[in-house]
Amino acid sequence: MIGPVTDEKLDQVVRALKRRDFEAVWVPDRQRAREIILERIGPADRVGVGGSMTIRELRVLDTLRDQGHTVYDHWIPDAPKEEILKIRKLQMQSDVFLSGVNALVTDGRIVNIDGIGNRVASMIFGPGRVILVAGVNKVVETLDAAFYRIKNVATPPNARRLSIPTPCAKTGRCMDCSSPRRICRAVTILEWRPMLTPTLVIVVNESLGF
Ligand code: SF4
Repeated sequence: MIGPVTDEKLDQVVRALKRRDFEAVWVPDRQRAREIILERIGPADRVGVGGSMTIRELRVLDTLRDQGHTVYDHWIPDAPKEEILKIRKLQMQSDVFLSGVNALVTDGRIVNIDGIGNRVASMIFGPGRVILVAGVNKVVETLDAAFYRIKNVATPPNARRLSIPTPCAKTGRCMDCSSPRRICRAVTILEWRPMLTPTLVIVVNESLGF
């Protein structure tokens, strides 16, 4: 949805998430989302972060580092492959894992797409707690719209950001490619909160991420 949307629509999404056993809240802007995240992270928590533009747009990671937190963030320019792999695995053992989402259906289902899988895996099992942030641009009315979104709205700019020459990076549309560099390989639907993973979803009434 192109935000901002009505309070009633956001109430509907939050109610749907709660029905699916998520903790959920909506906030008017990124500043309030940032405050909630920082309030929810304890002094000794190690924080993992997936490949998420949304979380970076909230500008929480530098604050957490300044507060002395260990932050498992694999977006390190020119880091050796082995180091990046190690950080991806450590994300799965973090106390709190932060991520955006690729699509949030108004009925509360959360849809994500991943190439390697550390981000979607960490949303499901491993970290002590998960905080997901969904800008209103991620909210869609149907599961079909979520699938359309993850392939045609989320993935092309991600491929461009990573300088990966997939067909969608050139055309802006999914071609269901057979590229060896294909970045969409695992699609997950969180139908309900994963049983052993306390998960807070923060819906933000402004656009964030892809
Ligand atoms: S299948 Fe290929 S073309 Fe389609 S979104 Fe994924 S990487 Fe892009």
